[in-house]
Amino acid sequence: MTLRLDTEVLTLHTRHPFIIARGGQSEYRTVMVRITDRDGLEGWGEAAATRFYGETLDTVQAALATYAPHLGDDPMQLEVIERALESALHGNAAARAAISMALHDLVGKRLGVPVWQLWGLDRAAAPQSTFTIGIDTPAMLRQKVAEASEYPILKIKLGSANDLELLQTIRTATPKELRVDANCGWTPSHAVRMLPVLEEFGVTVLEQPVAPADLDGLAHIRRHARIPLIADESCVTAADIPALVGRVDGINIKLAKCGSLREALRMIAVARTHGMMVMVGCMIESSLGITGAASVTPLVDIVDLDGAALLRDDPFIGATIAGGQLALPDAPGLGVTRR
Ligand code: MG
Repeated sequence: MTLRLDTEVLTLHTRHPFIIARGGQSEYRTVMVRITDRDGLEGWGEAAATRFYGETLDTVQAALATYAPHLGDDPMQLEVIERALESALHGNAAARAAISMALHDLVGKRLGVPVWQLWGLDRAAAPQSTFTIGIDTPAMLRQKVAEASEYPILKIKLGSANDLELLQTIRTATPKELRVDANCGWTPSHAVRMLPVLEEFGVTVLEQPVAPADLDGLAHIRRHARIPLIADESCVTAADIPALVGRVDGINIKLAKCGSLREALRMIAVARTHGMMVMVGCMIESSLGITGAASVTPLVDIVDLDGAALLRDDPFIGATIAGGQLALPDAPGLGVTRR
């Protein structure tokens, strides 16, 4: 009997509208994927589509319908299945990532071990997670900083017209470590002008200041930077890493970009081979998708898995980032349960 794939649309709401350089919203819809084997065991995954990477709720559902007949009957054949999906329909990373999560969850459940343990990882090695403060008015920024009191490291979204005011407001509100993500919102020369400002405000990491294809711009900024420069939108899969060597200090992996847990592991291996830092991030998604991404955190330097912590109606219980400390579940597979 072939593995059965079912889907369910999840409607999620952030506590506050989540605004980055490209805009924002407060309602998000993701797709939960359930894969059932012949014994009735279920593996779960989540697809968080983003238009920026060419996916929507509709394309995810269409892609999942295309992928369903290619799952075969043996969930242990992870490599074979993932390759079959890619050749059936390339791209559609969020949809494939959901299947990858569900298959790993199912395999872990069949074997009775958590995914992080299946990979031989020490979950205590996971770094602290940042908590993101989206673009907002000064009054709302102060409120958000107050609400984030339990998180020791904040990630600030810049790339709007009020970057300086925003930095000032947050720095006045808290002495915490700050990291900045400009989400492609700057030019290389503007980014270079911003570097001493970031330094003055004690910012420790700069993520994706310029457009995804502007690798020379990244290299130009890195020559002037004293803080690590991380590529996010410029680094989608492992194949993007060689061109980034020497141009950035590290890469940001997201399952919804790279399409699978196995590709995330390959990206970590390739980046480490080149002596690069590794970060793992997320979209706005529930604790189901966050737990999938959290499985690789013992292998990375920077964790930004606040997608579910930003929600007011998370339907799942899984990996948590309470107090900033990432905690991976004990239970077999991804260890995620319904709230
Ligand atoms: Mg980013």
